[in-house]
Order: sequence, then structure tokens, then C-alpha cells
Amino acid sequence: MAKLLEGKPVAEKIKEQIKQDVQSLKNKPVLASVQVGDNAGAEAYAKSQNKIALSLGIEYQFHKLPENITEKSLIEFMQKLNTDKFVNGIIVQMPLPQQIDYKRISQYISPDKDVEGMHPSNIGQIIFGKAQLIPCTPQAVMELLAQTGVDLYGKETVIVGHSEIVGKPLALLLLDKFATVTVCHIGTSKAGKLEEHVNKAEILIVAVGKVGLIKGEWIKEGAVVVDVGINRVNDKIVGDVEFEAAEKRASWITPVPGGVGPLTVTMLMRNLVTAAKLQQG
Ligand code: NAD
Repeated sequence: MAKLLEGKPVAEKIKEQIKQDVQSLKNKPVLASVQVGDNAGAEAYAKSQNKIALSLGIEYQFHKLPENITEKSLIEFMQKLNTDKFVNGIIVQMPLPQQIDYKRISQYISPDKDVEGMHPSNIGQIIFGKAQLIPCTPQAVMELLAQTGVDLYGKETVIVGHSEIVGKPLALLLLDKFATVTVCHIGTSKAGKLEEHVNKAEILIVAVGKVGLIKGEWIKEGAVVVDVGINRVNDKIVGDVEFEAAEKRASWITPVPGGVGPLTVTMLMRNLVTAAKLQQG
């Protein structure tokens, strides 16, 4: 039976470090959060970020902009935050209204305030193993893998999902640890090859958003399984992996909820402190 790879205890340890780092900064770090229009989900997420920020000694500045704002005005607003010397990090809450292209907007966040690590220059630094601000979810997965004590060197590592925010940057971070990385996606499934790849994974990370996509019986005996997926089923949150069957075969497995989720926002706060340190030289 697998051991549970829980995010909360890891997050608590990292938060202690963040608190100490905040104390060592000259000024209280400030995170600016930008929400466009009304969205209950985004608002709830911002509220929980605010609470965590406060508990760590970080100031959370919440900006709500009108639903019908133009991309040009939003970019101008970002540029104001970029030049505001009291703001150390900027996060744009999702979802955004149709007229706003997140990819374009994220390019206007100053790379040294890009706490989501999605600016092309931060993403690019991952290739050189030199990134300081790394996207939060891939960072959270790396922290969880480190907790298992399993050496990634040469391990058959399979990622299911190749999004810009999870799968692709994660593949680069794992390569940096000399894991042997295979990235699967919709094309792999359509070619009927997903089971074959999952079957050989000593380390399996799944980030798709489809309930039960990964069958328990596909998991290799002793594999480490990190399920990033979040799916709502009858008011319950479940991942992409068939948990009950998979935990009988894996050596470690993340619960959903309670695995990657609690760590993601902690990584955001760690990025903010890193950004503040970089700005203070
Ligand atoms: P996305 O929609 O951007 O990408 C989905 C990926 O899954 C793509 O690579 C696509 O090719 C692949 N895919 C789709 N159907 C597939 C199939 N049948 N077989 C194999 N691959 C398939 O998603 P995302 O933003 O990367 O998020 C993925 C999941 O992770 C979602 O459930 C999301 O809610 C969750 N997520 C969780 C956290 C967290 O903090 N826990 C953070 C980010 C995303």
C-alpha cells in the first residue's frame, strides 16, 4: 500500500522558511493581485491567497478592474504596477474576459515581478537551469518528489499533460535532475499508447483534468504517483488517477485534494520573496 504524499506538511515547513526570509528583507514584501470583472471562483482564490500572505508577513494588494476593460488599459495598469517601487510581485487572476489574451498580458509583467514565472524570459531560463521565478505548480511537484527521497537520476519519468503552465516546464525541471522524461498528451491517447507509457513509469505525474483517465492497473509496482488533476464530481474534488486501485500498486501517491494543491500557493509566496530579494539586490 502506498504512502501518502501530502502537500500540507511540506507547505508548512516551507512557510516557516518564508517567514524567516520575510524578516530579513528591508521592506515588507508586497504582492499585487489583479482581477478583471466578477468571478466568484477567482475572488475565493484571491481571498485565500490574501489570508496566507498575511500569515507570512506579506502585504496583499487587491485590484479589481472592470469586466469591459480593454487590453490596452489593462497593459497600462500593469505597467504602473511594474514601475511601482512598493510592489514586488504581480499576479493576474484567472479567468479573464474574452477580450483579454492572458499570454499577451503576461508578457507585460516585468520579469522580475513575475511571481507566476510565466514571462517568456523566466520560462526560457528554465532551459539553462537558471530560473529564479519558476511556475508554481511544477515547483510544487518538484518539492513533493523531493519529499519521497527517491533519486530522480535516470528514472523513467512520465508526465501526462503538456500544458505551458504544468507539463512543459515540469519536463525541463525533471531533465535538469537527469530523469528520463516522456511527455504524453492527447495525441498519445489518440494513438492508443497512453497505457504503454504509464506502465513503464517509475515516476508518474498526471495533469490533464479528466476523472479516471489513468487506470489503477496501469501503474507500475512501486511507482511514485503525483496527481495534479482537479475535477469536481458531485461536490467532491477528485484527481485524474483512479486512487483506490493505484494506491495498492504505488509506493507513494498524492491525495486529491491535499497533494499538490496546498503547495501551489506556498510556491507563489516563495516566488514573491525571491522577487523581493532580487529587487533589493
Ligand atoms: P490544460 O487543459 O492546459 O492541458 C491539459 C493537457 O492534458 C494537455 O496537454 C492535453 O493534451 C492533455 N490531455 C487532454 N486529454 C487527454 C487524454 N485523453 N489523454 C492524455 N492527455 C490528455 O490543463 P492544465 O492547466 O495543465 O491543468 C491540468 C489539470 O491540472 C486540471 O485538472 C487543472 O485543474 C489541474 N491543475 C491543478 C493545479 C494545482 O494546484 N493542483 C494547478 C494547475 C492545474
